[in-house]
Amino acid sequence: MMKKQRITDLPASAFPELIAELGAPAYLAKELKLWIYSKKVSSFEEMSNFPKAVREQLAERFDIDCATVFAVQVSEDGTKKFLCALEDGKEVECVLIPADKGRRTVCISSQVGCAMACDFCRTAKMGLKRHLILGEITSQLRIAAREADTPITNVVFMGMGEPLHNLDAVVEATKLMYDQDAFGLSKRKITVSTSGLIPKMKEFVARSEVKLAISLSATTDEMRDKLMPVNKRYPLKDLMAFCRWYSDEYKHRLTFEYILIEGVNDHKEDAIRLVTLLEGVRAKVNLIPMNPYKEVAYYPTSRERMYWWQNYLDSKGVSTTIRISRGQDILAACGQLARGEIKPALPKIA
Ligand code: SF4
Repeated sequence: MMKKQRITDLPASAFPELIAELGAPAYLAKELKLWIYSKKVSSFEEMSNFPKAVREQLAERFDIDCATVFAVQVSEDGTKKFLCALEDGKEVECVLIPADKGRRTVCISSQVGCAMACDFCRTAKMGLKRHLILGEITSQLRIAAREADTPITNVVFMGMGEPLHNLDAVVEATKLMYDQDAFGLSKRKITVSTSGLIPKMKEFVARSEVKLAISLSATTDEMRDKLMPVNKRYPLKDLMAFCRWYSDEYKHRLTFEYILIEGVNDHKEDAIRLVTLLEGVRAKVNLIPMNPYKEVAYYPTSRERMYWWQNYLDSKGVSTTIRISRGQDILAACGQLARGEIKPALPKIA
């Protein structure tokens, strides 16, 4: 028997040709997208306004999802982590984060593992296993959306992997996310977070219209080389030059994520240098306390220091929020995703 393709691996632009091939009316191309991505059906049989013969042809040739959930972990704060098996036996994780005012955010993975080797990150310990294909990325959103109590409002590419290292698949996935006939999210509610792959950032902003976030986490090349080795190839001077160019060209605000690690990158001098680095950039800063786990000797900055940072940056005109870590007890917090044997850290004794 011929091996079935996954329909979610096709870019949306391929749907009209497929519908024509099946001899079905052209308007069904849009309907097909709606059924798969908006109504999130798990079988073609459910597509009630499709002729039976077309549904049967689709079912003969295609499966729908590229990932199946084999475990769900629920945090005491309501965050849900989905452990997903891929066809080749590899595993990825995505996280559904509920918040106030109906906000439902899904944190998506773009690779199995990651090649960027950030020193504080649990995924980095796996190394890069492989890129995810388009359907494996969008299937995570279909899975989380089916489990959510209210519609998904936000997507962040902050799960496993450096999204811009897997540029083509991530661009196509974001297009489906803001396509109003597909997932139908707002462009400004989708964020792709990068460690700072400058050439890919230029290409990405030319090809996709979603928000870009930069994981910064240091204010000197010396410290960033250590925490985020990508800095050795693309140092701070070049990264900030890109950010100033982007601000001028696109007039959009960039989000800078700064993981605060006690005694490492949380000194007052760092905050002062950060303000200088951000001069001329439309910037918002997200302060994220380090999420500890067993294999690293990094700990979160104290609350007092975090609030000092927030007040200081705000006083200098840099809009700053503190991102509360969610799902820490199930290793679903930022920098903690990885399938393997790595265990959460024991609580630190003061
Ligand atoms: S922080 Fe992001 S880019 Fe860095 S190693 Fe982890 S997953 Fe990769």
